Amino acid sequence: MIPAETLLALDRRHLWHPFTQAATAPDPIVVRSARGATLTAADGRTYVDLISSWWVTLHGHAEPAIAAAIARQAGELEQVIFAGFTHAPAVELAARLASVLPPGLERVFFSDDGSTSVEVALKLAWQYWRNQGQARTRFAAFEGAYHGDTLGAMSAGQGSGFYRPFRELLLPIDLLPYPATFDGDPDVEATEAASLAALDDWLGRRGDSAVALIMEPLVQGAGGMRMVRPGFVRAVADRLAAAGVLLILDEVMTGFGRTGALFASLKCGVAPDLICLSKGLSGGFLPLAATVCKPAIYEAFLGGDFARAFAHGHSFTANPLGCAAGLASLDLLQAPATAARLAAIEAVHRARLAGLVQDGLAGAGLAQAGLTRPRICGTIAAVDFAGAGGGYHAEVGQRLKAFFLERGLLIRPLGPVVYLLPPYCISEDELHRAWDAIDEAARDTDLRG
Ligand code: PMP
Repeated sequence: MIPAETLLALDRRHLWHPFTQAATAPDPIVVRSARGATLTAADGRTYVDLISSWWVTLHGHAEPAIAAAIARQAGELEQVIFAGFTHAPAVELAARLASVLPPGLERVFFSDDGSTSVEVALKLAWQYWRNQGQARTRFAAFEGAYHGDTLGAMSAGQGSGFYRPFRELLLPIDLLPYPATFDGDPDVEATEAASLAALDDWLGRRGDSAVALIMEPLVQGAGGMRMVRPGFVRAVADRLAAAGVLLILDEVMTGFGRTGALFASLKCGVAPDLICLSKGLSGGFLPLAATVCKPAIYEAFLGGDFARAFAHGHSFTANPLGCAAGLASLDLLQAPATAARLAAIEAVHRARLAGLVQDGLAGAGLAQAGLTRPRICGTIAAVDFAGAGGGYHAEVGQRLKAFFLERGLLIRPLGPVVYLLPPYCISEDELHRAWDAIDEAARDTDLRG
């Protein structure tokens, strides 16, 4: 086994880590193995993974049924070109997805990761109108939304504030106000009404040139676990349908049970024109994504002329290993025991967040104690550590991350937003440990700066 110090020296020499300022970041933690919700580092320390390793690990690390399915598939067919060829794992996974997604979403285009699923959705929506002789050019998205780091996805995610160096490179997009809400929000009706009025205005001005609106339903992930009510998503969908503008729902993060329902769109009672899936699609084992659309979209690409076809594809489109993992993951996801796990996670979140509010931390209210905007959506819980300035790069986030790591917890705040988004195998004890640490952090005034 290569010693950890050697790995770190080589890492420092050769690697470039994502979303990291290498000049100031501490050394990365060398992980040797992972099981269930626990990562084991080279120095023997363990960490409970409360963020599902960037929201991908669905059931647990090294989940045996998924590992076995991948191993089986690797011995049969590991990869094959997907133009002019097909295979059982892709066909079965597409059919399974169609059976669990909102009605009408039945045509599956596979790609590699969340960003490519968004690129595909944007391009499909764009060409859909072109193929019908309409040169529509405008997309809309919500402020605070994040859709990935490739150029189209960055364009759609301009409201996230991550992309300053690339501003001039991005496609124009119309940004709408997002009515982020929380438990006990007194202004929710007014902020939702203002957002819908802005959408009405956009549709009025741009309706004939509007390609699509893209949104993360129920929870904006990277933007800070910002939540809206299901009725808001439904109201957006209804307005777009009435105006004849396409709706793209990016369920890269919210899909596969995270919001308590199989998909956030189902929880909202919305069937979008296109949906983007990745992360949990393979159970978090392999990079795999899907953009799934309604038949009307697919049919607009049919004809005698190749120019009408969707000239887009990736080397690993519908990779059989990823698809086999996806099928095994769906089996687990649809097992009754999993629904019980999701409910149990949400119940712990509710009890502990309510406890934080009620305790009022030695008599003070949540806000006085420096915590604001408590919110829960299914297995996702979040609260803001106020008072230290906002934004993804807020220093309080770095301090909190170190505080949690010292306690053997992988919790990675988004700036001042502390959130939990655990794999479904997590035990109630592990979850309580995380909430205990959040409680402790809330009482530690030094941490908030
Ligand atoms: N959309 C959403 C909602 C996401 O949360 C992410 C990733 N965090 C992406 C798209 C991009 O996915 P990927 O990092 O796999 O490209």
